[in-house]
Amino acid sequence: MNVADLLSRSAAAHGPRTAVELGDRSLTYTELDTLAGRVAALLTVRGVAPGDRVALMMPNLLEFPALYYGILRAGAVVVPMNPLLKAREIVHYLSDSGAVLLFAHESSTAEVTTGAKGTAAEVIPVGPGSLADLLAAHPEPVTEALGGGHDTAVILYTSGTTGVPKGAELTHAGLTRNADITARSLIRLGPDDTVLGCLPLFHAFGQTCSMNTAVGVGARLTLLPRFDPVLALQTVQQRQVTVFVGVPTMYAAMLAVHTQRPGTYGCSTLRVGVSGGAALPVEVLHGFESAFTCPVLEGFGMSETSPVASFNHPDRTRKPGSVGTPIEGVEMRLLDEHDGVGELCVRGHNIMKGYWGRPEATAETIQDGWLRTGDLARVDEDGFYYIVDRKKDLIIRGGYNVYPREIEEVLYEHPAVAEAAVIGVLHPTLGEEVAAAVALLPGSGATSDELREFVRARVAPYKYPREVWLVDALPKGATGKILKREIAAPSS
Ligand code: ADP
Repeated sequence: MNVADLLSRSAAAHGPRTAVELGDRSLTYTELDTLAGRVAALLTVRGVAPGDRVALMMPNLLEFPALYYGILRAGAVVVPMNPLLKAREIVHYLSDSGAVLLFAHESSTAEVTTGAKGTAAEVIPVGPGSLADLLAAHPEPVTEALGGGHDTAVILYTSGTTGVPKGAELTHAGLTRNADITARSLIRLGPDDTVLGCLPLFHAFGQTCSMNTAVGVGARLTLLPRFDPVLALQTVQQRQVTVFVGVPTMYAAMLAVHTQRPGTYGCSTLRVGVSGGAALPVEVLHGFESAFTCPVLEGFGMSETSPVASFNHPDRTRKPGSVGTPIEGVEMRLLDEHDGVGELCVRGHNIMKGYWGRPEATAETIQDGWLRTGDLARVDEDGFYYIVDRKKDLIIRGGYNVYPREIEEVLYEHPAVAEAAVIGVLHPTLGEEVAAAVALLPGSGATSDELREFVRARVAPYKYPREVWLVDALPKGATGKILKREIAAPSS
């Protein structure tokens, strides 16, 4: 199977139904399938061969799925790129992947042209009008996909928190199976569902869990080019969205809007929320579930695991704070366990082939088929996994381990807290000291001292943050995850 077969299958079964929509534009399954087929025809005529890399730098617009499935149908490999990248970053992605073509949204033409200079990639600017012009000479769509199975489908670059971004090579088999399992056994998605696509599609989570799952079952994908909690709630109401897929900061922001203005947005069509990408604070999970009367299923995933690896399954007990149990065909275990905590390792059909062109990094990460996640976890007697923290976020204060997540969970219990992140700061004698950056709910007036004392009363003395910085908002990456490395003490 080729990932693009998810689309052709749905076009055969649900042709006239809406596949994707944004504002007043939409495409039916037949239209999207034809567009993708014509993109494949264009690539073939341009001499793009199976296995060639084609980069795609596009916000969440209707053109994204058309180009994505078109590239895959031609047997080429998609290299998704964040549309906000600057020229010096673009060079890295293009030269590292050896891309022969780059489809880039018209709005980024200047950066892209500079970035592509000196690389092998030919730049094709794309917008709604120009895609139609580009395809005018290719009326006949390619209907049969080239390649599939264990061929590489997508090279997904990691965010590069530890060094330069590396490209995780994901296969057609891994991605289609991940979308299939997520759609069928986790979200229980069907053609009558409407999925809100507010996660960026160039990232693993949005690509599989909103786009490929929706397209694979013939559901409707409602795109938002960028996340905004009010816009998201309005869209849920207006488009009768049934499935929300997002990272924890999105749940926290929507809940904050609801808390400020309860009842403003009727979201009764929402039947399930799917959270991943970072730890969902238990308070946020409970708050969201009661505000919107729908269950929130939390799972664990990463780019290197296509991305879903474990989940709180809808048909089993759900354990708040846990990332559930491994999905079918996937195994998890803990390495170098001490006091019940060890590095989480994953094995199964969802594991990447390796990092593109980096055999050493691949050998460090995948050992005997087990992928080392870099996350610390524990497992309970029922086989439910709990992410304790990222290995690199662990704070060692005077020889004692402090797991930021534990302290963040406590901060979220305070009614004034909208977002919280706990980090280690250098300390001359202790090595590291615990600090917290907190954004408050609008209109609430908690002070730093009050928040510090709130935590102090609830945890062992070595764990509470000696400093609490109040900030307007926490820095976030493209997916909406909090970027701890960008948090610093306020200058005053
Ligand atoms: P990055 O966050 O570096 O851009 P990914 O998007 O691939 O990379 O994210 C993978 C990481 O996200 C995991 O290694 C883990 O640290 C974190 N993560 C994913 N899901 C969860 C979860 N449910 N709870 C806690 N952490 C999670």
